[in-house]
Amino acid sequence: MITGENHIGNQRSSKGNKTYKTINPKLNIENEQVFIEATSEEINQAVDLASEAFKSFSKKSGTEKATFLRAIADEIVALGDDLIAMYQSETGLPEGRAKGERGRTIGQLITFATMLEEGSWVDATIDTADLERTPIPKQDIRKMMVPLGPVVVFGASNFPFAYSTAGGDTASALAAGCPVICKSHPMHAGTGEMVAGAIIKASQQTNMPNGVFSNINSSGIEVGVELVTHPGVKAVGFTGSIKGGRALYDIAAQREEPIPVFAEMGSVNPVILLPNAAKNRGEALAKTYAGSITLGTGQFCTNPGLILGIKSDSLTQFINTLSSEIVKIEPSCMLHPHIIGNYEKNKQTVIQQDGLKIKADYQNEVATNHARQTIVTVEGATFLNNTTLHQEVFGPFSMVVTCKDEQELERIISQLEGQLTGTILGESEELQNYSDIIDALQNRVGRIIFNGVPTGVEVCPAMLHGGPYPSSTDSRFTAVGIHAVKRWVRPFSFQSWPNEMLPNELKDENPLGITRFVNGKNSKEKV
Ligand code: NAP
Repeated sequence: MITGENHIGNQRSSKGNKTYKTINPKLNIENEQVFIEATSEEINQAVDLASEAFKSFSKKSGTEKATFLRAIADEIVALGDDLIAMYQSETGLPEGRAKGERGRTIGQLITFATMLEEGSWVDATIDTADLERTPIPKQDIRKMMVPLGPVVVFGASNFPFAYSTAGGDTASALAAGCPVICKSHPMHAGTGEMVAGAIIKASQQTNMPNGVFSNINSSGIEVGVELVTHPGVKAVGFTGSIKGGRALYDIAAQREEPIPVFAEMGSVNPVILLPNAAKNRGEALAKTYAGSITLGTGQFCTNPGLILGIKSDSLTQFINTLSSEIVKIEPSCMLHPHIIGNYEKNKQTVIQQDGLKIKADYQNEVATNHARQTIVTVEGATFLNNTTLHQEVFGPFSMVVTCKDEQELERIISQLEGQLTGTILGESEELQNYSDIIDALQNRVGRIIFNGVPTGVEVCPAMLHGGPYPSSTDSRFTAVGIHAVKRWVRPFSFQSWPNEMLPNELKDENPLGITRFVNGKNSKEKV
């Protein structure tokens, strides 16, 4: 029997007796490896080690942490094709996707390493003393970002690399100086364990403290709840369903010491098709959107699940082309029988609502766990009055809402729940005429796209991946890009503190040569 163990700091550990296996959704069989769920004792050990590790890890220099992150990237690459094979066996996703996502994950680690080496991310702010000031002398005050403490990261089912064990939450928390305890996603526990091994190896090579990283296996909600309620845990990162994210947010808020939960959750990512674009480019846009809706079997948080337009012949033509194009696409495999089970259930719930019309529903036989893509339409008034239709159907599904006029379209957008993205498909000259629509959309989303598709999240500093609730639990932050580090730090001030005792970032001589905000001006100079 091949056993999947927990990584409690540098030790492998399997004290529990609750076991589970992952599933190969393409073959619809269980994979061989047996995973052992962590016990309370192991959870406590991981958190205690993380708390101890925090004392020294939080003081590591940017260069030391960068070396650690680069070593993680190298160790993941060193796992080679075995890691790709494991990923595919637990997700049913194709090799190209696995390799692309691994590349993105490595790129994220390197981006955070580069940020640390440059160093200005800590927002060092210095206000020097003016002891001659009357009537009250001004003290020397210096502020910078400091890490929060141990962070629990919940791996996401739909991104086993990029939003899981060594994904964006882990990379950004480690960059901040926070030890990480990963609650591995049970659907890809083997991938998680291999990546965890790479992180531990990298931490040992670069002399990081034991406990800077742990990987906890579990196949039920109890372990996650225990981690979030543990007094040693100081913040949580989560990607998944609104139900799961909200439950953890509420648990964290009810603790004696409430802690932040940064959850990235459901979104239908509304797309507004403006009349001239529908008229001039409807067919091409329909073909593009058939591809975007089915990309990754619709298992992206930025999947376009809602398309809104004003009734016209061009909109009808767009719907017809979208419907005929989408059924030409070969159905693909979903991540897990549970995920396709949810897809079918949620799709049926929507389809059974009054006023819904099915425009495309793939009818041919499909292999096990392969999802049938579906397009439905509904009138604007019906959509407005039925919030069941506003919910995400996670999978290759999209709803086109036909509005009677611009006012109805604006009303619908204003009443939508918070979203990760919103897209405007329009001709440049018609944008001015729809500024109210654009303003309403901007108020509901974290990112607005012009003439593109929402799927595909560029990892760069200007990217905002988050949005008003429930797309995320805190719209002030991003889960992607270097600014994701801001979720794991707090501003901290030193008053009248001796120069030699200050962190290097705040010392008079600016030994790191970083950009600082000194007496109201950005500067790299000595004070
Ligand atoms: P999930 O059900 O939200 O679970 C994500 C993680 O959170 C899992 O590790 C799960 O633990 C844990 N969890 C869930 N509820 C919890 C609770 N009440 N207390 C403590 N821990 C909890 O998401 P999923 O497993 O990835 O997929 C389920 C559905 O979520 C999908 O069908 C889809 O609808 C949605 N989803 C949406 C997105 C998106 O980006 N919008 C992404 C992924 C999934 P256990 O698995 O161990 O129970």
